[in-house]
Formats: sequence, C-alpha cells, structure tokens
Amino acid sequence: MHPRYLNRYLADVGWRDPLDVPVDHPVTPSSTPNEDRAEWTDLAGLARSLDGCERCRLSEKRTTVVFGEGDSDARVMFIGEGPGAEEDRTGRPFVGQAGQLLDRMILAMGFARNETYIANVVKCRPPGNRDPKDDEIAACSGFLDRQIEFIRPDVIVALGRFAANRLTGTDKPLGALRGKWSHYKGVPLVATYHPAYLLRTPADKRKVWQDLKLVLQKMAEGSSPAIFNDEL
Ligand code: SF4
Repeated sequence: MHPRYLNRYLADVGWRDPLDVPVDHPVTPSSTPNEDRAEWTDLAGLARSLDGCERCRLSEKRTTVVFGEGDSDARVMFIGEGPGAEEDRTGRPFVGQAGQLLDRMILAMGFARNETYIANVVKCRPPGNRDPKDDEIAACSGFLDRQIEFIRPDVIVALGRFAANRLTGTDKPLGALRGKWSHYKGVPLVATYHPAYLLRTPADKRKVWQDLKLVLQKMAEGSSPAIFNDEL
C-alpha cells in the first residue's frame, strides 16, 4: 500500500497517535495492556513495554518479541524487515546466516557489531518468513520511531525493500533507492540490499559495499575518522 493510501486508511479507521510523538507512519489504535507509556522514557523502558505486545496479528505465532540490540549511542543504525526463525527463537536480531553476513559487513566498515544498533521494522516474526503486511508495519511503526529517537544515530542503513520503503515513504524498488542519500526524521539514510538477498545474489555485494562506503564517508564528515577496507 502506498504511504498516502496508508495514511488515508488510518484516518478512516480513526487513528490517533498513541505515542504522542510525530511520526510519518503512525501506529494503529490499541488497548493492549502492555502499553505503559510511563516506561517509555528510555530504550530499556520501551523494550520492556513491548513484552507481550498484541498490537497486530504477528503476536499470534511469534515466540519472542525481537526488540533490537546494540549500542544505545550508536552512530550507525541498521534496520531490516523483520525477525526470522533464529531471531524468533533467540530474541536477537540478525543472528542467522543473514546476520552473520551483516556482521561481516559491519566488520568491513571498521566497527564491531556491538558498536552499532540493529533493529527491524516489525518486531515479531511473520509466519513462514512471509513479507510483513502494511497494517502490521503500521502497528509497529511508532516503536521503531521511538527507538530511532532514543538512539539518535548519525546514519541509518535500511536493509532491504521493506525497510527502505517504510523509511523513505515510497514504494520504489530498492534498485531505485540505493546508492544515494535520503533522510528519515532528519537522520541521513542510505538504503541497500538485505543480507539475505546477498546470500542468494552474491554478485551484488559490490553494490552494497559502495553503499556502505557512502555511510563511512558521511560519518567521516562528522567527528570520528572512519576506517576504510576494500572488501566485504
Ligand atoms: S510486530 Fe510490533 S506491533 Fe505487532 S505484535 Fe509484534 S511488537 Fe506488537
């Protein structure tokens, strides 16, 4: 669903922003008991408030809410689509084969995984690893927005089409979005291919490395010198 249709749909169903934060893609109304906004004063409180979340149908089949992990002061934040089977089992994002490739990407950039922050657009596994639906993305949207607000990264890297579409507010294919800068809530954003795609299409690793070098260049414009390696 195109973002403008999504917003119209949410308006039609009487949506209001329960997070009291400005969001581009607001969440759907909910009366789930875990929504204790008093806890949403920091990242840990936000994570606690997601325990047992039933805001969307993804709660029905999930084992664990996969909130995200990493440095709460990270300069770079990676955002993927949603948890897979291994993530659902462990409660950690990007720990399967795709996660191991993401780790290598991060290392190639000159960082340790725990120096970055890693999260997903939806925090619960879509059954059978299907694509998340528009209303599920919308339901989880405010949590991701608040996560970004707490972390305040210098750069966001959107991994894959769903994260890229969600964060750029477009429905363009990833090939049209990667390789250039956009912004999300004032944070510079680069979209690139999801590591799971790279496992199937390793020839595109070169394009991903080009995108990651953009990230490093942007970060080098800031306070800390980036370390450049020539390989993924
Ligand atoms: S995907 Fe997000 S909104 Fe849906 S149940 Fe999980 S935490 Fe809640």
